[in-house]
Amino acid sequence: MAHLYKFVPAASVTDEFKEMATQWPIWDSKVAPMQETENKFHFDYDGDYGSERVLITAGVATLTPDDGSPAVELTVGDSVHLHFGFGATWTIHNPVEMAYGYFDKDGKKIEQDEISCDVCGTDCYEESYLFNDEEDICPTCFKADQNGSEEYEGAVYCREGKPSKELPKSLTKKRITSSLGGSAKKKAKGDYVPGMDDDE
Ligand SMILES: [Zn+2]
Repeated sequence: MAHLYKFVPAASVTDEFKEMATQWPIWDSKVAPMQETENKFHFDYDGDYGSERVLITAGVATLTPDDGSPAVELTVGDSVHLHFGFGATWTIHNPVEMAYGYFDKDGKKIEQDEISCDVCGTDCYEESYLFNDEEDICPTCFKADQNGSEEYEGAVYCREGKPSKELPKSLTKKRITSSLGGSAKKKAKGDYVPGMDDDE
C-alpha cells in the first residue's frame, strides 16, 4: 500500500530542498494554535495542494498516521512529504520548528503570494496588517505606529494575507511560559488586546 506520506531522512534531504526551505514560513510548536493537549495534536492535510513538505529545523516529534501506516520519528534535518488526504497525530517530544511549503500534484512548488510591508519593505506574509484594503503594514511598523500617530488605526490583522481572528504572535508569545501552546492560547482568548478595540 502506498503511504500518504514520504519520510526523507536528514542524510537524503537534497541541498536544493534545504535551500528552498530557507525561504519558507516556520511553524513553531511553542506558539502553534492547534495544540489539543500538552504535546499532541491531530492534523488533516486537506488544503488546496498536492502535498505539504516540511523540513524539521528544531526539536523531536513522532508522526503517527491515522491509516495505520508506520509511525515515524522526526528530528532536526529530516523532511516529510504529507500528501493531500493524509491525517496524523503529531507528538512533540522537544519543541519543534519546521519550515513548510506547499506543492502541487506534480510535485512543483506552489508559489505563495508574497506580501511586503508598504512602509519598510520587509516580508510580512505570515503576519501583516491591512489598512484601507490596500496598504500592507508589517507587525513592527504597525506596533511603532501604535506608539505614535496611530495613522493605521483600524487596520485588519492578517495571517498569510487573510484576515485572522487569532491573536498577533507578538501578543501570544509573551503569554507562554513553560508549557506548549495549547493551554496558553485558551487563556489568551478573551484577554484584552491593547489597540485592537474600536474607539467609542
Ligand atoms: Zn514595516
